[in-house]
Amino acid sequence: MNNTAYIALGSNIGKKETYLKEAVKKLHEHPEVQVELISSIYETAPVGYENQDDFLNMAVKITTSLRPEELLSLTQKIEQELGRTREVRWGPRTADLDILLYNRENIETEQLVVPHPRMYERLFVLVPMSEICPEIGEVQINAVTDQEGVSIWKKTCGVEEFVHTES
Ligand code: ATP
Ligand code: MG
Ligand code: MG
Repeated sequence: MNNTAYIALGSNIGKKETYLKEAVKKLHEHPEVQVELISSIYETAPVGYENQDDFLNMAVKITTSLRPEELLSLTQKIEQELGRTREVRWGPRTADLDILLYNRENIETEQLVVPHPRMYERLFVLVPMSEICPEIGEVQINAVTDQEGVSIWKKTCGVEEFVHTES
């Protein structure tokens, strides 16, 4: 578990909180992944494709022995297990798991770009990340003046408690 990564999670169909919890639980259950920190859950207005329901968004910090491309396979498998289908780009989804950071590596393959290329322009990523990733902090967020559209929805506690409580 010698690598540190951050994952952004989002859901805007059906039992959104349940999907987030299930996704975190599935990450945590993988023998080569340990969920170390979780942010609060935020309710956010859709960006990119606006004719859809609001999202719940959060971010988690993990340690893992998976290589980046293996981690991507895992996050995609979890999306599938939670019933993700891809119809409209940036459209409604049960679960979206994006790899934001993997150590301090810069990765650019056809399947995977890390740091996630759109993370620094997305408040729904930066605000939850600022709770769990000291490097993100205030600087990035202050740079984005309009904080509208991202509001705290539920303050969450420890990882264990999060994955074991009913939503
Ligand atoms: P966005 O990436 O703008 O948040 P999205 O999450 O809706 O959009 P997806 O449909 O989930 O996009 O993913 C499209 C493709 O992005 C995936 O097939 C995956 O290969 C690729 N991808 C590239 N970089 C990453 C990353 N850091 N995390 C997750 N997927 C990535
Ligand atoms: Mg995404
Ligand atoms: Mg995605």
